[in-house]
Amino acid sequence: FLAMPLSQLFQAIVTMNQGAGALQRVHEALDLPEETDENRPARTSPRVVEKGSPVLEFRDVWFGYQDVAEPVLRGVNFEVPQRGHVALVGRSGAGKSTIFALAERFYEPDRGQLLFEGADVVELSRKEYRRRVGLVEQHSPVMFGTLRENLRYAAPNATDEEIRHVVELVNLDELVDRLPDGLDTAVGEHGMKLSGGERQRVAIARALLPRPSLLLLDEPTSNLDAVNEAAFRRAVEQVASECSLLVIAHRLSTVQAADRVVVLENGVVTGTGTNDELVAGNEFYRSFAAGLTSVDSRV
Ligand code: ADP
Ligand code: MG
Repeated sequence: FLAMPLSQLFQAIVTMNQGAGALQRVHEALDLPEETDENRPARTSPRVVEKGSPVLEFRDVWFGYQDVAEPVLRGVNFEVPQRGHVALVGRSGAGKSTIFALAERFYEPDRGQLLFEGADVVELSRKEYRRRVGLVEQHSPVMFGTLRENLRYAAPNATDEEIRHVVELVNLDELVDRLPDGLDTAVGEHGMKLSGGERQRVAIARALLPRPSLLLLDEPTSNLDAVNEAAFRRAVEQVASECSLLVIAHRLSTVQAADRVVVLENGVVTGTGTNDELVAGNEFYRSFAAGLTSVDSRV
């Protein structure tokens, strides 16, 4: 990434999506000294994961953006169990993306605590933490270079075997097998154009390569054709068997595939349970879920 000509680098930055994720990548690309905790000595002894502790827990988390009077998250509590598959739902503006931004540590809570495998996240350097907690944003950046380069972006030492494994997990193996140069085919603006659904699955595979304990996945609201929709659904199921998963869900099928749903209303968690439990016991969720379709919903 850093070996690119500067003009290309800036072009790449411009085409990346807005928001904290993009900002973080800019910081990473330019190596700006933004991370306040990197100067702290990193933990040296291997951390003992407390048995039964969730992979991620939000404990009474309050958060507001600078210069905005109203807090966006108000006492958020929820957890993602080890090997859990949790869907996060709520209307536009409820604070779902903000929860991801905090979970990826782009921001710090104003009050409350985030725990990773039972320990306060501040005990891990952000760099190490982000290796353990992968993020797939709604819109994957425009790509350049070969498919292999795109996949290895966050895991330069990944072996061919590891790459093949994640490619199969996200159902891109058939596509790769059809390409004349396989993984060495150039993609993006200067190569083969991938569809939105394919790009998205490349992004998932890329996030999986460093072997995270938890994957944060912001499901795209855009329409996928039936083939890509099915491939996405299978990919999510397969990913959930590899690591814990927290997915911002916009489709009913995505909610139903999860083993737990967290309902967010105006920055407050108002329900947690299975889809069936919430349909039975949560009025907001009942009407919300009724508005979701299996194909497309803009929430
Ligand atoms: P969701 O993902 O559920 O649609 P968001 O987390 O994106 O919700 O946004 C929650 C609230 O925070 C909204 O009112 C939004 O306008 C506000 N917000 C989001 N990002 C920022 C930001 N960078 N600065 C100020 N306000 C923001
Ligand atoms: Mg959002």
